Amino acid sequence: MKISISYPPIINDHGQKAMVSQNRNVQFFKEPTYLLPVTYAQAATYLKQMGYEVYWDDGNAQLKSFDKWFEDLINESPNVIVLESTTPVMKFYWQTIDKVKKALPNSIVIMTGYHSMRMPEETMQKCAADMVLRSSNVDFALHRLIPFIHENDNWRTDYLGEGLLIRLDNGQLRSTGDFRQVEPLDNVPLVDRDLVNWEDYAFENGNFLQTPGTYASSVIRDCMFGKCTFCRYNGPDLTFSMMSVERSLDEYERLINEHGVKEIFDDSGVWYRGKEARQFAQGIIDRGLHKKGCYFGINTRFEYLDEETIKLMGKANFRFILLGYEAADNVTLIKLNKGYQLQHVDNCLKWMTKYGMHPHLTIMVGYYWQTQKQLDNTVSEVKRLMFSGLARTLQVTLCTPLDYTPYHKECIKEGVLLTDDYNDFDMSKLIVKTPIPHDQYYKAVRDMYSIAFHPKFILRQLLFLTSFKKKDWQFLFTYSIRAIRRVRQHIFNLTRHETSKSPEKMSVEK
Ligand code: SF4
Repeated sequence: MKISISYPPIINDHGQKAMVSQNRNVQFFKEPTYLLPVTYAQAATYLKQMGYEVYWDDGNAQLKSFDKWFEDLINESPNVIVLESTTPVMKFYWQTIDKVKKALPNSIVIMTGYHSMRMPEETMQKCAADMVLRSSNVDFALHRLIPFIHENDNWRTDYLGEGLLIRLDNGQLRSTGDFRQVEPLDNVPLVDRDLVNWEDYAFENGNFLQTPGTYASSVIRDCMFGKCTFCRYNGPDLTFSMMSVERSLDEYERLINEHGVKEIFDDSGVWYRGKEARQFAQGIIDRGLHKKGCYFGINTRFEYLDEETIKLMGKANFRFILLGYEAADNVTLIKLNKGYQLQHVDNCLKWMTKYGMHPHLTIMVGYYWQTQKQLDNTVSEVKRLMFSGLARTLQVTLCTPLDYTPYHKECIKEGVLLTDDYNDFDMSKLIVKTPIPHDQYYKAVRDMYSIAFHPKFILRQLLFLTSFKKKDWQFLFTYSIRAIRRVRQHIFNLTRHETSKSPEKMSVEK
């Protein structure tokens, strides 16, 4: 039996590719970042270990055109095809599924991902998919489902494992109930790097200062906080689970010693905290992995790591620390249920900088309630943090309701959504009614990304060189050149719907 885990290339009218995999916020990019879809890679590994033939089919990372991807898939003729959905590409996926089912009527198409998980009937009505898998734990779910399909012709009526909406032979839909995760994360195998052609993802990724880089098998599935209203990891259907520290350390050791990896990023919603974070950092030191010239990166939250832990992580050679800042006013943070307080930001960043890490802030603009004062506050606070050297890099996005998260449902309830066409949810423009003109938010995006070109910011980076840390020199002379390319791309993507542009502003977009 052959199972394909497939990511069709999605290219828009501007020649930009949609980044769907592993990306909590899908966006279209001309110079894409190829992200290894970790859970799907673990699912592929699991199925291979169970003796199934696995076709790892990431058309984006493999640089295929849509037609080439489609032709190859037809030639492979898998028995089962697994796809991952998210709001802005749903219409594309529905059309693609119909095309695939027409060419391969006997292949079973399974739709997964956060959008269809929350709207399973919609996908079953809009296309010919055979089922929707209503869980982010695709590895556990497929590991139970695939052998059953293999051994039972009547799987559509007889399968009892939870979390599926199945199309029966008579066209009716059958739900097997809500998914419950009963197995510990340690049961699922770590990613088989060769199976997923790990080098396809090792170079084009802005999170890596050194290459080849890679994503670790996440130590936390979904998010241990899981309450931010805009986030896909927020939902009654989601539970978080944790991998043991020793197992993760074993993987890091293999990645460094056997694959020569120079930077490892763990994309868990939020990485370990407290005892596990310290055990992990100490484990890296005890195994001598901190001296192998490899940097480590994580997502964390303000207030999750104390100075003692950060100090140990610095010693272990952690570098890239991604923090969800979102906005600099408490009203917004409370409305988003962010669960951190602004007064703790400076200390947390100070410790990270003091122990040699490069904090990266993620910010959003365009919440449906955001006033000019709140927006100005965010821009000036972000400037302060960047100019003072407390944060090194940033990423600004237009807050877009997606995947029927609580924020998405709230926008529908409040009547502020300006469109219900999923193609408009691609994060390239604001799609909610706001108290001030949309141009003000686009301008704020431009202001924040332009910090990278400001003399004060550049001077601060030069001052870091006096510490003679290798990563600071790399930051300025290697990374910044790549970063400038990406900053120009972000400014173009996020402000192209701005109506009032001066000639000077237009020139950035060339
Ligand atoms: S902390 Fe981050 S990953 Fe977790 S729910 Fe909030 S935004 Fe999502």
